[in-house]
Amino acid sequence: MSDIILGIDLGTTNSEVAIIRDSIPHVFEEDGDPILPSFVGLADDGKLLVGKAARNQWIVAPERTVKSIKRKMGQNIKVKLGDQEYRPQEISAMILRALKTRAETQLGKAISKAVITVPAYFNDDQRNATREAGELAGLEVVRILNEPTAASLTYDPKNTELHRILVYDLGGGTFDVSVVQAQDGVIEVLSSHGDTQLGGDDFDELLFKHVVLKFQAEHNIDLGVNAISRARVLLAVEAAKRQLSFHAFVRLEEEFIAEKEGQALHLQMELTRSEYEDLIRPLMQRTMDCAQRALEDAKLTPNQINKVVLVGGSTRTPLVSEMLEHRLGQPAHQEVNPDLCVAMGASIQAAIINGEDVGAVLVDITPHSLGIKCLSYRNGIENPFRFAPILRRNTPLPASRSEAFSTVSDGQDAVDIEIFQGENDDVRFNHRLGKFLINGLANVPAGNLLVVQCDLNLDGMLKVTAKEKATGLQKNVTIENALARFDDAEISQARERLDRLWGEAVPAGGFADDDDPFNEASELDVANEVPELVDAPREGQRESVLAKALVEKAERLLAKVAPEDRVELERLLGSVRNAMTDRQWEKVTASCNELSDTLFYLEDA
Ligand code: AMP
Repeated sequence: MSDIILGIDLGTTNSEVAIIRDSIPHVFEEDGDPILPSFVGLADDGKLLVGKAARNQWIVAPERTVKSIKRKMGQNIKVKLGDQEYRPQEISAMILRALKTRAETQLGKAISKAVITVPAYFNDDQRNATREAGELAGLEVVRILNEPTAASLTYDPKNTELHRILVYDLGGGTFDVSVVQAQDGVIEVLSSHGDTQLGGDDFDELLFKHVVLKFQAEHNIDLGVNAISRARVLLAVEAAKRQLSFHAFVRLEEEFIAEKEGQALHLQMELTRSEYEDLIRPLMQRTMDCAQRALEDAKLTPNQINKVVLVGGSTRTPLVSEMLEHRLGQPAHQEVNPDLCVAMGASIQAAIINGEDVGAVLVDITPHSLGIKCLSYRNGIENPFRFAPILRRNTPLPASRSEAFSTVSDGQDAVDIEIFQGENDDVRFNHRLGKFLINGLANVPAGNLLVVQCDLNLDGMLKVTAKEKATGLQKNVTIENALARFDDAEISQARERLDRLWGEAVPAGGFADDDDPFNEASELDVANEVPELVDAPREGQRESVLAKALVEKAERLLAKVAPEDRVELERLLGSVRNAMTDRQWEKVTASCNELSDTLFYLEDA
């Protein structure tokens, strides 16, 4: 048997090490954690610290701690650690040595070879410095691998057919987006863009400022000036930010954060996902512009991309998938853990070099979206059959997600929660899993907030909980077997029933605006009462719904029109999508009008 080759992701904030075991990537853990923070430090007694211990002391002893050394790789400089100075590759070597030791301890043998990943934009000096760091750590670097190439390998290790992948990588401190082309085992990075000063740390900083300002408005105390309270708030907002990826609301609870006139003050604040999203939207917009430029440099249009893959911890922010889907017209993939994806890809490359067989990375995911029925408005018409997904398709399991909804009528004391599985915007095309009633709601005007949470475990057991936000009153139901793939036959049946009802064919992608049957009376036995719940309304909701329908219609036409019309159609689609991502609702309406006129002409042609 050939020597083991480690796959190493040497990251700016975090690093990981993996190998292939039984044809499947395996990431080494220490104390149950696969992530080694890329921090190096010296303890009080001069002992070398690498990883979590070094990260923990960084706030209190920055002069004895080095972070983000990757940013300095390839530069002819030295960094100070205690009273000694080191070249960047020497610090990186300490991280690599820690990873090597982690793998050796668990395998019970010495290892001397590795594949190490680097950003696609790294120049020769940076690559050579990485290679040298490996050698200093006692590792022969058999390949320096581009990070987006590694990520694409986890999704398709065999890559025989030609396909193009857009890899969007948003970590703690850096952002990269690359277009990768793979065929017959050869992977090429066609283009790459990024921002080496943009990442989750900036999101933390924005949320931190927001919280500090709110606290100051209430108590007239600036939590940013005291180092300890600053550090505590930063840690709290980072944890809150993670929660907001899965839930609509989060509470900050930090006791004794400050003192005023001899009285202890606590930080108790609720943050909502939508206020957080508003804070980070301008930064997210910059990442979307980079993605656009990467596509242009690769001379590709969004529909020539076969897959969009998400890498880096910050891509768990739902706004990332949402904006990318608007821009590129296809859902982004995040089934492989975005923190571990690059290390796994490096281990796949290592196995390929060794001539070993490698299979795809297997993850348990939910094969269908799960959500509830609610009321929405479409072209000013009520749509009582709107499917509001809560747990989206392809989410790794176990998973827990919540979304906010609100009541429709004044004094409404009960709501029927109907749970569906499927992908159609119209619940009648989806599979109904169950229903329950939550009653005894407070006697308040319409708009009473309800948080609906879906918890799905690996065995397919789904728990749906509805909670009245103001009072905490809650009700839940448990559904067994929510992972079962429902029959295509069921969808066909639903389609046929609708066909019979309206006497016309139902288009594959749903209904276009002007043949929308939603306002017709329905005789369907499924879900035909008007729901008492509406999406918590958002700015631009009406415009988005309109634009989405038009975009779908235009996409259906794309394949059928003449090449010169296709170019124009793609341009118009691009401008609708861009305006949507920018949330410029007036521009959305203007672009939609232009698109609608063109569609009218093309449909007639
Ligand atoms: P990476 O550099 O890829 O390890 O990513 C680290 C960044 O991901 C940090 O800024 C984390 O705060 C962020 N992160 C990790 N988990 C989440 C999450 N659930 N939602 C949003 N950001 C996250």
